[in-house]
Amino acid sequence: MSEEKKIPYKIYLEENEMPASWYNVRADMKNKPAPILNPGTLKPVTFEELRGIFCDELCKQELDDTTPYFEIPEEIRNFYRMYRPSPLVRAYCLERKLQTPAKIYYKFEGNNTSGSHKLNSAIAQAYYAKKQGLKGVTTETGAGQWGTALSMACAYLDIDCQVYMVKCSYEQKPFRREVMRTYGANVTPSPSDTTEVGRKILAEFPGTTGSLGCAISEAVEAAVTQEGYRYVLGSVLSQVLLHQSVIGLEAKAAMDKYGIKPDVIIGCAGGGSNLGGLIAPFMGEKLRGEADYRFVAVEPASCPSLTRGKFVYDFCDTGKVCPLAKMYTLGSGFIPAPNHAGGLRYHGMSSVLSQLYHDGYMEATSVEQTAVFKAAEDFARVEGILPAPESAHAIKVAVDEALKCRETGEEKTILFGLTGTGYFDLVAYEKYNNGEMSDYIPSDEDLAKGFAGVPQFPGNEI
Ligand SMILES: *Cc1c(COP(=O)(O)O)cnc(C)c1O
Repeated sequence: MSEEKKIPYKIYLEENEMPASWYNVRADMKNKPAPILNPGTLKPVTFEELRGIFCDELCKQELDDTTPYFEIPEEIRNFYRMYRPSPLVRAYCLERKLQTPAKIYYKFEGNNTSGSHKLNSAIAQAYYAKKQGLKGVTTETGAGQWGTALSMACAYLDIDCQVYMVKCSYEQKPFRREVMRTYGANVTPSPSDTTEVGRKILAEFPGTTGSLGCAISEAVEAAVTQEGYRYVLGSVLSQVLLHQSVIGLEAKAAMDKYGIKPDVIIGCAGGGSNLGGLIAPFMGEKLRGEADYRFVAVEPASCPSLTRGKFVYDFCDTGKVCPLAKMYTLGSGFIPAPNHAGGLRYHGMSSVLSQLYHDGYMEATSVEQTAVFKAAEDFARVEGILPAPESAHAIKVAVDEALKCRETGEEKTILFGLTGTGYFDLVAYEKYNNGEMSDYIPSDEDLAKGFAGVPQFPGNEI
């Protein structure tokens, strides 16, 4: 117990202890993630092909499987200093409430106006666009966390930000929309009549409320048809995991200061960027044989890409305009039942995490929505922070681990990622509080429909 006294509730790093470089876990992977493919030729996408869509520097990062460290440019570090280092919190209150001998820590990424970890990559992507002399960037957003983060980053760097927001969210979630507009972003409900693909979808499905896949297709079209614009994406891509490694590097530095070594590291997994970032330096040690950790990816039972998906090449978007990625996928046409964790509704998973999971370096589990909100409320009542529903998936599994320790008496050290706050998710909390939340789990038949849309070519059979 005396040892516990030495560890403060919050472990902060000094500004000069913040990471100076991002860590690229691919450099330490023996089995590299499979290359992304051009859907037309089925050949690995080249730098030349990719640079029409993404900024040059980001294409380089995307295609680089061997460089372990990328220096974080000074201007990005200055931006990080506005809200980083983020706190690593010892969840003493939660431990007490659970009466567990486990030691629980969480890395909190919600302490910035965008309310999530997405700002860590948004600023990097906006910076490289600006550095290349571009006028602006285009993107899509579903629930709005990514669009919010990107609009903040673009405002700071004074470049244009065009966001295609899924129409039903645009209409039903006006608050994030207005945050984006306040930061100067141009927000268009998707599908729209501003792009060819949008007009086509509107003609075919009048009155449609849109989908993420459709918004991606519009954002990509907007990027390639306007001079001086590129497309940016908030998760899934290897470059995004690279930027998010700042989470894990800070967490590890803070833990090292106090000689703490986590036994298990837990994170929610939508496209995989926060989890990939949190575990990166720890996974590096495991891959190099220097230390051992358990890693657990948590996904919603309604969108179980790792736990029930197939490890094949698939389209990254419903519009099928992006390269093919080899990943655990439910099929790009899979439409998950409404789940209030909007950030976890993606059909696929980062190819880096997919490969690590396939090779047995990481575990995955799925949890049901009502249990997640129960954990979120329990957590909020003792730790104070109102968690994002996405983050609460990690809370749920961390709590389960801690309760196991109560039974076995093990004093395990648990680290989980608290990716954001839930102030814009109060309709979901309302549903939970009213007892109106449902736990829909797709049947094997539902999943088969999604798998049927996976591209078929030799070596890619399901
Ligand atoms: C977007 C989001 C996620 C999921 O995205 P990943 O890329 O899997 O990290 C998780 N939590 C919050 C708060 C988000 O906004």
